[in-house]
This record gives sequence, structure tokens and C-alpha cells, in this order.
Amino acid sequence: LVDIDWHAVRDDFPLLGRTFYGKELVYLDNAATTQKPNSVINAIEHYYRFDNANVHRGIYALSEQATRAYEACRDKIQHFIHAANREEIIFVRGTTEAINLVAQSYLRPRLKAGDEILISTMEHHSNIVPWQILAEQTGAKLAVIPITDSGEIRLDDYQKMLNQRTRLVAVTHVSNVLGTINPVQQMIAMAHAKDIPFLVDGAQAAAKLSVDVQALDCDFYAFSSHKLYGPTGAGVLYGKQLLLESMPPYQGGGEMISQVTFEKTEYKAPPYKFEAGTPNIAGVIGMGAAIDYVLALGLTNIIRRDQQLLRYARQALQSVKGLHIIGNAPNKTSIISFVLDDVHPHDISTVLDVEGVAIRAGHHCAMPLMQRFHLPATARASLAFYNNEQDIDRLVFAIQKVRDMWG
Ligand code: PMP
Repeated sequence: LVDIDWHAVRDDFPLLGRTFYGKELVYLDNAATTQKPNSVINAIEHYYRFDNANVHRGIYALSEQATRAYEACRDKIQHFIHAANREEIIFVRGTTEAINLVAQSYLRPRLKAGDEILISTMEHHSNIVPWQILAEQTGAKLAVIPITDSGEIRLDDYQKMLNQRTRLVAVTHVSNVLGTINPVQQMIAMAHAKDIPFLVDGAQAAAKLSVDVQALDCDFYAFSSHKLYGPTGAGVLYGKQLLLESMPPYQGGGEMISQVTFEKTEYKAPPYKFEAGTPNIAGVIGMGAAIDYVLALGLTNIIRRDQQLLRYARQALQSVKGLHIIGNAPNKTSIISFVLDDVHPHDISTVLDVEGVAIRAGHHCAMPLMQRFHLPATARASLAFYNNEQDIDRLVFAIQKVRDMWG
């Protein structure tokens, strides 16, 4: 743990200096995507200016250089999430693609009519719809673990729902609406006690927690670079080696084969078996630079910062009359959903926008969770380490304005 000059850290992010309606931007939509530091932007630019060539193909120095840079990111990510082997790291477009890959390549061949896929009430659509598509294809069923009013998974119900027909549990590490940190390590142990594999949706966790896939003992872990200060269009699926080896390819094409004839194709070993076609080379290199950036700040420092900002924001928001925070789990990250009596969340975000404060309003790709709380939508402020107390003060000031306008 070291003291970081968080104010100076803002200077690493060029976008934070922008103004809207004559006011300096307060960016509080980090759960949707984070801003990118100069080091990430420079790494992508450097790749295109000096290193651009297709990977794993050319027998010339430039292509080998590009391949080395790309493959070095696999090692970085292996260490970042503490995977046992670099071959367990598959580059994908993002969390959504990672989950679809597991649905179609891992689970589909193992699923029969009447089997169950277990998810929770607080899942993002990308951890619901791929399983629904699969259920329609196979006659399997989706089962949904209930949550409490404070936004926590009901572990007693979960225990009862794990049964002989359950083929996979897929649960988010951190809720993108409530901020709840789910006890996935415990949940994984409970599933494994019944030989049921477990996928963790780490989209909101990778930038906020120290992820150790071996300590968690998860079978699959998915996350996106763009929520981790890296570029869009790149992400990771971690899978245990033995499982990956047992899975057929997700997509066919170049890069993923060892031998092709018109009669038969032999595939490469993982991870290449799952990386058909020219990958997002610049995106992966940008993701590697983002991980370097985060590790240089230190995850312990980032986590401490997150909890400080969360505490400050919760207290400040609670002072607003008629404001209700949705999601009050004791163990949560700095994602704060709220509603204001008699005001639609879209009206809140529209007024805030003119104040230079960017938040999200809507269903946050979690419509069933909105239904659980009998809400059409919420307003959501989600923080990152580059936010500060002044940002939160400006948020609260702008919400007070909304309060005054609506009486
Ligand atoms: N799961 C969760 C919890 C998320 O917050 C998100 C992104 N909002 C996703 C999955 C999907 O990530 P992506 O759009 O990057 O594929």
C-alpha cells in the first residue's frame, strides 16, 4: 500500500480534461466503459505506426515482432488473473463473446432436454441471453437464483437449486447495477461439491478486485478490456486447460487449424483452436498496456481508493431528500444505482448532462433485475479511481437541482 497522488493520475487520461456546456466533464459512467490513459492510446498508435503485421504467419522480422508483442499480452493476462498456464487465456471480443463461446462450445454438446443452467437475478443480458438461446436449441431450462432486497444472492436458495440436472452455474462476480460483490469463491465450492462447473462473469470485477482464478477455482472467467482502461473489441476468456482441450472449436477459419484437406481438418491446441481469423492485434496490445497501467498503480491501492470514494458518495447521496439507493450490500464496489421520488431516471440524467455530469439511466442491460425491484429504470453513477470528492459533490449538487426543479 502506497500513497498515490490521485489528482495527478487524472492527467494520464486526456478525455477527462474535456468540457461540456462550458463545464469540466465529470465522468461517472465507468461501469459502461472506462476512459483510456495515454499509455494505452500510445501503445495502440505505436503498434500501427511501427509494428503492424499479421501475427503467427509471416516469416519475416516485422511479423515476428507483432507476434511477440501480441503473445506477450497473453503472459501478462495469465499473471494478472493468476492462471496456471498461458494456454488457458483465449483472446475474444469481450465478455459477451466469451460467454457465447462457453455456451456453444462447452455446454451445448453436454446438454440434454430437461437439464438446467443456473444463473442469478442480477445478471447482465449477456449472461442471460446466450443461455436462453442454448436452452431453445436443446430443450434445457434456465433456473434463476433469487436475491434479497439489499441486492445479495440468497445462498440458502442457491444451495437448494443445485441439483442433479444442473449442468453449469453462471454468475456475475460484481453486479453492474447494484455493485454487489458476490461470494463467488464460496458459490464455486458449493457447485463443485456436486461436480457442477462454474462460469464467472468478471466484466465489472477485473478492474476493481484482485482476481485469482486458481484461488477461486472457477472453470471459466470472462472479462472485457474496455472496462479495464483498455480499448473496446478485446477481452478474455479464461478456461481450465482440461476443459478447453475437451471443447470443439467455436468458429472455423484461419489460425485455428494445423492441417486442412477437403475431407478433414485438424485443429490446433487451445488457445489457438478458439481464435479463428485475424485477431484484434492492436486491441490486445492496448489491453496489455492497460494491465501494465493498473498494476503500476497497484490493485491494493485501487481497491482502497474505490472503497473511499464509495463511502463518500453513499453518504453524500443519502443527504438528498427522496433519493433511494438500490443495492445496499455491505460488500460492494463503487457502482451506485438510485431513484429519486417522482422523477424519471432519464430526466435525472438529462439535467445532469447539462451540468457536465455524465451518468447512465435506464435498465443497464439487466431488465429482469429492474423487474425484481419493480422499477422501470434506475440512474447509475459508477466511479473509477480517477474520480474524486469534487466529482461526487458536483453530482450531488446537480441532483439537488433536479430535486428543486421537480419540487
Ligand atoms: N457482464 C456485465 C456484468 C457487464 O457489466 C457487461 C458490460 N456492461 C457485460 C457482461 C458485457 O460486456 P461487453 O459488452 O464488454 O461484452
